Amino acid sequence: MIRPILKYGDDTLHRSAQDVEAITPEVEKLIDDMIETMYAAPGIGLAAPQVGIPLRIFVVDASLGRDPTALKVLVNPIFIEREGMQLEEEGCLSIPTFNATVVRPARVTIQGLDRHGSRYELGGAGLLARALQHEMDHLDGTLFVDRLRGIKRDMIVRKIRKLSRSGKW
Ligand SMILES: [Zn+2]
Repeated sequence: MIRPILKYGDDTLHRSAQDVEAITPEVEKLIDDMIETMYAAPGIGLAAPQVGIPLRIFVVDASLGRDPTALKVLVNPIFIEREGMQLEEEGCLSIPTFNATVVRPARVTIQGLDRHGSRYELGGAGLLARALQHEMDHLDGTLFVDRLRGIKRDMIVRKIRKLSRSGKW
């Protein structure tokens, strides 16, 4: 089932999510729905808070579905390593039509549970590293706009407020 994606300004997006206590049938259904919702968007990642569920789960596929092994589910993920630096344009399904250059580490390794509750490590560079960090941020209530400074951030926030006021957000 495709779930509606919340947009910037919705409370759930701006709060820290909770650890998943157990992989229940509800959690499995949520994961399936998140995968379907991500591909339908289409996006390269989706975190549970984006569909209104404040749990530490995200799905990612930097290949946009082209590589069947690229789909990863991470439950209760933590960073193991972060190194280097990259500067790339970034967008977010919760902030449609806006993007900006965000500074992030170039390579990361994350450890978390898969959809069956087994612990594993996932490392990535470039686009995958950026996607992993972007989704990790969602679990802490941080959006890419929050990582911008000064004028660029103010400009996006101001435009979103204007769209909200006119009922177009
Ligand atoms: Zn996002």
